Amino acid sequence: MAIINCPSCQKKVSDKIKNCPECQFDFIHNKSSDGLTEEQLASKKNLQRIKRKYSLQMRAMTGIIMVLGGVLVWYFGGRGLLSISDYLSVAAIGVGSILYLMTRIHLILYRRGR
Ligand SMILES: [Zn+2]
Repeated sequence: MAIINCPSCQKKVSDKIKNCPECQFDFIHNKSSDGLTEEQLASKKNLQRIKRKYSLQMRAMTGIIMVLGGVLVWYFGGRGLLSISDYLSVAAIGVGSILYLMTRIHLILYRRGR
């Protein structure tokens, strides 16, 4: 008897079982409970990973745009802290840089964690 990783849920299971106790993956026909083969599962997982990475990169981009927009408005708006737009632009710089930094950390952890 050997211990293998379930292709669907990655839990450690015996190679003698017919169905994964966790996700019901069918080892006899090599199909998941919703009828996907091992390869289809792998490409589905890959697609999810790409989508997740893309949405994180979009979030980082939003942060950069907020910072740049904030800097531009603040710079050309007199570089003071007098009007509501000054406060808004400074807030955009702060929120944007926090958003960017947190997303970068998230991306690094995400790459390491798989
Ligand atoms: Zn499983």
